[in-house]
Amino acid sequence: MEMGKVVTIDGPAASGKTSVSRELAKRLGWSWVSTGAFYRGLAFAALETQANLEDENALAALANQREVWAVKMDDEQTSVHFKGRNVTDLIFREDVGSVASKISHFPKVRSALLGAQRACSETTEGLVAEGRDCGTVVFPTAEAKIYLTASQENRAERRAREQGANAEEIIGAQKQRDEQDSTRKAAPMKVPEQALVLDSTDLGFEDVVGEVEKFVRSKLSV
Ligand code: C5P
Repeated sequence: MEMGKVVTIDGPAASGKTSVSRELAKRLGWSWVSTGAFYRGLAFAALETQANLEDENALAALANQREVWAVKMDDEQTSVHFKGRNVTDLIFREDVGSVASKISHFPKVRSALLGAQRACSETTEGLVAEGRDCGTVVFPTAEAKIYLTASQENRAERRAREQGANAEEIIGAQKQRDEQDSTRKAAPMKVPEQALVLDSTDLGFEDVVGEVEKFVRSKLSV
């Protein structure tokens, strides 16, 4: 299968990866995928089917059951479908994020999801992929890699605004999720070599996208 060019954007929870990567993809005229949807989708399917969240083999088997749940890419959304129903609106709750983070430390779960994530770059001219390990594991040969971060408070406020919750409620769960994601043995979140590291705490959306676009265009000569 033909592989297109790839740009990766990794970083901690609510660092702005989703909106920045989606906008970058639009500006380049490329496809876009949020790889968190694979982990959130599996977490949602596991909760709905009352799977044992400690059973690595059962979760890895569920990861491959395309007829039970599936991820679809489009320009606006990486959507999750469960038994034919679009459940994307339900996967962004912090409790689904926490389960996603817990089950994502199982190596068999990660490798079960890897093929489908890599397949996103087939038959497209280019792909912008965002997540935790896109530049390190999923697409290690990506043409350009970015690591986007922001202060804990800034990220909690961002998620709280999106969810209509308050930042104090979010911050504890988010800290725990960051800790789990960066200390796990399998594909821990880390800054990829040669990545542009961008702290968006004091930057507006346009500034962040502008910086990222400039970096990517210089790397790709496009
Ligand atoms: O990015 P998002 O918050 O949607 O990701 C949900 C969870 O999925 C993360 O906390 C992380 O544990 C897991 N994940 C991962 N690797 C990725 C993307 C997400 O482990 N590439």
